[in-house]
Order: sequence, then structure tokens, then C-alpha cells
Amino acid sequence: MQDKIAELRRHLSPIYDLKAISYLLEWDQSTYMPPGGASARARQVAFLEGLRHERLTDPALGRLLEDLHAYEETLPYDSEDASLIRVTRRDHERAVRVPAPFVAEAYGHFAQTYQAWMEARPANDFETVRPYLEKSLDFSRRYAEFFPESEHVADPLIAEYDYGMTASAVSKVFAELHAELVPLVKVVTNQGEADDSCLRQRFPESTQWDFALEVIQRLGYDLRRGRQDKSPHPFTTVFSIGDVRITIRVRERDLGEALFGAIHEAGHALYEQGVEEGLEGTPLAEGTSAGVHESQSRLWENIVGRSQPFWRFFYPPLQKLFPEQLGKVSLDTFFRALNKVQRSPIRTEADELTYNLHVMIRFDLELQLLEGKLAVRDLPEAWRERYRADLGIVPPDDRDGVLQDLHWYWGFVGGAFQGYTLGNIQSALFFEAALREHPEIVGEMEEGEFATLLSWLQEKIYRHGRKFTADDLIERITGGPLRIGPYMDYLRDKYGALYGV
Ligand code: ZN
Repeated sequence: MQDKIAELRRHLSPIYDLKAISYLLEWDQSTYMPPGGASARARQVAFLEGLRHERLTDPALGRLLEDLHAYEETLPYDSEDASLIRVTRRDHERAVRVPAPFVAEAYGHFAQTYQAWMEARPANDFETVRPYLEKSLDFSRRYAEFFPESEHVADPLIAEYDYGMTASAVSKVFAELHAELVPLVKVVTNQGEADDSCLRQRFPESTQWDFALEVIQRLGYDLRRGRQDKSPHPFTTVFSIGDVRITIRVRERDLGEALFGAIHEAGHALYEQGVEEGLEGTPLAEGTSAGVHESQSRLWENIVGRSQPFWRFFYPPLQKLFPEQLGKVSLDTFFRALNKVQRSPIRTEADELTYNLHVMIRFDLELQLLEGKLAVRDLPEAWRERYRADLGIVPPDDRDGVLQDLHWYWGFVGGAFQGYTLGNIQSALFFEAALREHPEIVGEMEEGEFATLLSWLQEKIYRHGRKFTADDLIERITGGPLRIGPYMDYLRDKYGALYGV
């Protein structure tokens, strides 16, 4: 059967490469490409996506998978060959449902939408991007029709990001979390806001840039296999296990923007750089789900990067870099500023406590759009209403309202948001498990050492790529299903101590 496995890998390798080339074109579009390149770029990405889809849906691949079926049954679930066959079959069977012309047309449209959004957002102009979004929503509902067995129109979209999850499963977890989170946010915000003026001074961009790069290398981000660039919306992208790049944005009057953006993206990148090299060129060589991916970015950004032990190590060198701004600011004041809880309009700038409320708003609005209960035309107003109800604030304009996230403007509407909060929940589950095995992790953070934590994550999560689903990983690592307990314990401990509640 080894010749069949070799044949399978030969078939899969160009699919992997076509995806990487698309990612490269998209990375370029978001970093260096002049606006004049937009329409050609849209055509090029659509062309590559079409090719990739053709190759993935090739009946020859289906036959190969059939031939391998008996062999697969003889293998343990976690063997590399069994995982390769299983995950390839899943991708193939999902892809054959969706006709190639539809994919090409949709991706061509998404690239144009993204360009329109890039111009509409700074101009605070929802009306210009509205017809694009309406068409994207239409594509999303048509996509769902290719999976008629689904219980909910959002399920096929959610499965693309968080395989194994459904609209009803997510709604159930979110309802539990919402019920515990809202009173906690209330108690904490009733204590009055922390003073974060120390973060809002003038911090020269290049020093911020260098410090961020220094920190993420210390965490383990390997610059021989990565790089850091600027883009309007930070992201991580993968061209191969040997080339995993991040982008960040820097703001002179916000010390957190570049630094936590970099740590967040480095968390994603550590995951991708940690995939076992032997999986390269196969569908296994990738983080397993949006939720698990986000569990890593949030674990490094929040559980590590916004913790006391982390700053006991990094605050003195930061003070040295900015003596005028931070020389007289105590670690305690700085730490409180970093963990300020505030009802604010922007998701990516939200603190750990209110962040999930932002995500749940988007998830609910998505479901309503997909169900046809909410028209795109009414979306900005629905957005304002939900912010008023859930966060007690109204965004000043659409730029900081419905236009703030790129997700609805560069792909299907649906599936992309639940992963953020699932990731937060999972980050605490995984970190708790790591601490149980290695209580020394906390002491190491105070020394600026992260190797024990990183190698534990590598061993338990990163190296496997997509071999295991999110549910598999959670079960293997924690011995139980997804649950919010450890996450709520983490939040209550941390913010209870900070706010004396
Ligand atoms: Zn992320």
C-alpha cells in the first residue's frame, strides 16, 4: 500500500502548493501591492482557487481514496497514513459538493469585496460596500445549499473553520458563557476604569517594532522561517512550514497595538512552525481549526503576554527603551493599564472580558443574515442595537461599527467568528493541562523562559497539524469535552485579583 500512499502524496502536493501561492498573492495584496493591482489580483487568485478545486475534486483522487479504504481500516486512528487518508477524504468529499465555476466566481468576488472594503472603511462608507456584501451573503447561502443534510444554513460554513461544530452546539456553549460573563463584566466595570494613560503616550514606531520582534523571538518565533511586515489588519500566513509570516500594525500613541498584535500573530505562527515536517505538502500540514488556532494566539497573547510573571521579566527592558514615558510608571500601574476592562466598540482592541461579547454579537448577526431574518441594508442598525444592549455603548460610526472587521468582506459570511471565543475557552483548558504537568512554567516566565510551555504545546498540539480535530485534541489533552469551567476560573481569578471583586 506504500505505493498508493506515495501516489496520494504526489496528488496532494500541488494542491498544497496552489494554496500557498494563493496565500502569497493575498499576503502581497495586504502588504505591498499598489491599489492598481486589485482587479488583476482578484482574477489571479480566482484562477488559482479554481485550479486547486479542480485538483481536489479530481475523480482520480476519489478512486485513490477508495483503493486505500481497506488499508485505512487496518491502521490505528492516530497513525500518519490513516490521518492522511481520513482528512484528505473529508476535504475531497466536501469539495466535490461545490461546483468549480461557483468557487471561481465566489473567490473572484471576495477579492473585489476586500478591495472595496479597504477603501470603504477609512471613508466610513458602508453604502459602497453594501452591494458587495449582499452578493457575498448570497454566495454563502448558495454554498450552504450544496450541503442539504445540514441542520442549519450556517453549519457547512462553520465546518469549514471549526470542523465538528454546528450552529446549535456553538449557540449552546455561547449561551452558557454569556450567562456567566455578563454579570462578571458588570461587577468589574462597576469598579471604575483602570488608568491606562501610560500606554497612550508617544512611543516612536521603530522602537515599538523592534521590541515586539524581540519579544516574539524570545517566545520561540523563528525568524529564519518567518518575518514580520505591516498591514492594515494583522494576520498570519503560511507558504510552507519553513515560511510562516506575520503582519502587525503600529500606532505611535498606543503601546499595546503592535506588541500584542505581534504576540497574538506569533501564537498562530508558532503553531504553524511547529507542524511536523513530514506532513509538509499534505492537507495535514496546517492548524486543525480556527478555534484551536485562536486558542494558541490567545494563550500567548493573554494568558502569557498579559500576565504578571511575563511582565516581571519584560517590564524593566521596556522601561529602558522608553525611560521618559515609563521610567516613573510602576509595574503595578503598567500591569493594570494592560488589563483595563472597558466597554469599547472595537473587537480587536477589547480586553479579555468584553472580547467574547463582541464575538457573540457577530455570531448572532451572522446567523440572522444567513437565516434571512436580517437584511444587509439593516445590518448597521442591528449592529448598533446589539452593542447598546450587550455592551451598553453605541459605536460612533460604521467605521468602528459594522465595517471594523475584514471577515465579512473577504470571504463567505458565516463561520469565521465563533472560533475566536471557542479559542479563548480552549486556551484556558490547554494552559491548565500544561500547568498540571509542568507547574514550573510560571516561574520560567518570570525568567523570560518559555521553552517548557512551547515544547509541551508542540508535543500535544502543534506537531499533529490536522491529524486530530479540535474535539480529539481536547479529549486527549484534558480527558473531557469542551467546557467553559477552566476559562471562567481563569477570568475570575485574574480579574478578581485586579479589581478586588
Ligand atoms: Zn487570531
